[in-house]
Amino acid sequence: MQKNQLVKLEITDLSYEAMGVAHLDGMTIFVNNALPGEVVEAKILKVKKSFAFAKIEKLIKQSPDRVTIKLNQWVQTGLASLAHIKYDKQLDFKRQQVINLLEKAHLNKKVNATVASPEETGYRNKAQVPVRKVKGQLEIGFFRKHSHDLVPMENFFTTDPEIDRVLVATRDILRKNHIPAYDEVKNKGEVRYLEVRRSKANGEMMVILVCLHKDFPQLAKVADEISQISDVVSVILNHNPKKTNVILGKHDYLLSGNPQIEDKIGDVCFKISAQSFFQINSLQTPRLYNLAIEKAGLTSDDTVIDAYSGIGTIGLSVAKHVKSVRGVEIVKPAVQDAKENALLNGIENADYVCGKAEELMPSWVSEGMKADVIFVDPPRKGLTLEFIEASVKTNPQKIVYISCNPATMVRDLTMYQDLGYDFEEITPVDMFPQTPHVECVTVLEKK
Ligand code: SAH
Repeated sequence: MQKNQLVKLEITDLSYEAMGVAHLDGMTIFVNNALPGEVVEAKILKVKKSFAFAKIEKLIKQSPDRVTIKLNQWVQTGLASLAHIKYDKQLDFKRQQVINLLEKAHLNKKVNATVASPEETGYRNKAQVPVRKVKGQLEIGFFRKHSHDLVPMENFFTTDPEIDRVLVATRDILRKNHIPAYDEVKNKGEVRYLEVRRSKANGEMMVILVCLHKDFPQLAKVADEISQISDVVSVILNHNPKKTNVILGKHDYLLSGNPQIEDKIGDVCFKISAQSFFQINSLQTPRLYNLAIEKAGLTSDDTVIDAYSGIGTIGLSVAKHVKSVRGVEIVKPAVQDAKENALLNGIENADYVCGKAEELMPSWVSEGMKADVIFVDPPRKGLTLEFIEASVKTNPQKIVYISCNPATMVRDLTMYQDLGYDFEEITPVDMFPQTPHVECVTVLEKK
């Protein structure tokens, strides 16, 4: 098999990244955007020892699960790499990922149907898009897969269309004022990224200009013009002077309006700052939490620990169902936000502490705390062994695991089983339609 060779392939499966999988001459071939059941003429792009990558040249037989997408860029850039698959099949695909992982781990457990998102497109309450010069003009868009080539775009598909409107209006203001886009190679120019956040609850929007310098000619004028775009209540400059792929720098400067916007999860309000982590899908998040609350069978006598508490979203949503909540989080400003959010909602039975959950939980136990339920919502890398051991020593009846990465979740569940906890079922919840990301909830109970 060689690069540029044309081959006829029958697609039999989908990979984790939703690439079509085919087999030929003992090789596994991953074909971009191809679906199971399809027959394609494909061009080989890259050959490794036992596998290769290819792209479709001609679709010979089309899958009934394929939908025609409006813009090729969505799949080209990886912005929405499932956009060519019918939504109900996307939900099946996500469930199947979890089933496959459980099978590999020799766990025979029920996986429920994936809970669909109320919005299939336009669900994101935040966009972060690169700004670059393309063909002599400042453009916003998305990077082509595995590259830093900007593909100019105005319709970001998974993002709230109101956010797209403000992104485009801001781009036009930057163009009109001749503000230079960031040049990654030379580490020169000004605007690196645009970030826009929108409150689903009240429609208010925050615009963040991520810039190489914290001041430059015309900045005040640009900020003033952006503040006049309808619904924009906050304009912030984030200063990122480094040559780095990390999007945001450490410091924010308020250019106009308020430093925060306010959104809701269910009936709980949250103040959100430029750097706050906030769940992306505002309408699906309360469904995720309600499902977790229901599956955990919480009662008004329960003492709950919200490990990995962020700005308090889970604990504050749970507080009214239980006796008390204690949250723990390593990022100091997030802890501060969680405390403020408790006050904002008049919630008096939730407190938040800054530190590592695995270090603090044992000290609470020795102080006499008895936790009935621990909620965990870790980052993609999952839990550490240290955390798992500390949580088991805390001796809760139940551990509610909310996961954004089923691979690390299954690994962690296996460890809990060895330590005397077991689970019956897993429910995938679609927080990120059109993308391969899978969110899951499961409840571990002490045996
Ligand atoms: N539950 C929140 C945040 C989830 S993101 C929400 O849904 O909004 C995971 C959070 O865990 C991050 O805020 C991260 O800073 C925090 N975190 C990571 N490791 C931690 C640890 N060892 N102890 C406590 N918090 C931790």
